[in-house]
Amino acid sequence: MMNKFELEVSYCIDCKKCWDVCPVNKVTEGNIYTPQGKIESLAKIAAGEELTQEEYDNIYLSTRCGACDDVCPVNIPITDIIQYERQLLAEQGREPAKTTAISNNIIEHNSPGAKDPEKRFDWITEDLDIAESSEIAYMAGCWVSYSQPDIARATIRLLNHAGIRPMILKEEKCCGLFLLDNGHLGDLAEHAKKFVDYIESLGVKKVIASCPGCYLVLGKEYPKLYRELNFEVEHSLNVFKDMISDGTLRPEKLDLTVSVRDACPMRDSKDVPRSILESMGVQVNELFDGKQVCCGGPGGLKPNFPEIADDIAMLTVQGYKDKAGMLASYCPFCVHHMEGACKSKDEEMKIKDVSVLLAESVLGADFIRK
Ligand code: SF4
Ligand code: SF4
Repeated sequence: MMNKFELEVSYCIDCKKCWDVCPVNKVTEGNIYTPQGKIESLAKIAAGEELTQEEYDNIYLSTRCGACDDVCPVNIPITDIIQYERQLLAEQGREPAKTTAISNNIIEHNSPGAKDPEKRFDWITEDLDIAESSEIAYMAGCWVSYSQPDIARATIRLLNHAGIRPMILKEEKCCGLFLLDNGHLGDLAEHAKKFVDYIESLGVKKVIASCPGCYLVLGKEYPKLYRELNFEVEHSLNVFKDMISDGTLRPEKLDLTVSVRDACPMRDSKDVPRSILESMGVQVNELFDGKQVCCGGPGGLKPNFPEIADDIAMLTVQGYKDKAGMLASYCPFCVHHMEGACKSKDEEMKIKDVSVLLAESVLGADFIRK
């Protein structure tokens, strides 16, 4: 019997378009880690056959950024196939040990790094007006909570300025993007059920997320894995864009030229950060001629292949320096990963989140009231 996706793999016309856009292939020699090569291992994996080391590594050498899906002329769902291959390998007990460990951290400790849940809300400062209960909840997500607290503070201050007092989710969990990327769909469905039921029990009607990963997984994947949600999920930049359009937020000019570090889960709405930057008079000089190139961190690439992940980060870090004075990002994981890569490569990088720039523009540079 033909396995799931085998028919799709057979549609490949060997055009190699996916080779050129793949960030892993860009930073490695000899075209041994192409997206096409990844999907060609499907039959062997499904049959439980041994893979060569290169074939095996290739399955995990992907951030599931989607650049290959976007260019495949015969619409092969390459990232779905990679996810399915990883699912099969996990079921066969052949998943990398680090991938299993991170997945278990998410399920058992609610964050990829098994961080202390007591510290999840350390970003909250006294000046922030947070409601005990509200129809609008703010979800910072793991990377903002533990590694980029200024993004959460800027977001709440902007919402407060617009007259909104959001609540926080006291039992906030990791969204589970890593489980999705690594084919742990049963675990993610269970995780989704617990998290969705909890959010709905609070009477929340809208969740505003700072992280594109949370926005994608809660808003688009939970409904597929569990059921339709009784609340909306919005990325904070979409909310801010509307508030600028209707005059609720009034940005002042910032004298800056930036390149934008686009977030893969939101690559269909790149106009949103650009319109916010434009409203602040910020000039945008595009990276990579406006094409999407992943930061190199997600999907398990960073823990399993740190050097390749760092080399991919350098495409952005070195790329912006010819174009602009700084990077503007809207993904806390891109920032976290690129900061780590810069440390290991001894590189300098200037980067700020778009919501932090907006807070500086609307509220002044010292937007956190002491
Ligand atoms: S999803 Fe991104 S990293 Fe993965 S194979 Fe496709 S282009 Fe390469
Ligand atoms: S872009 Fe699609 S058709 Fe072309 S080589 Fe890659 S998988 Fe095959």
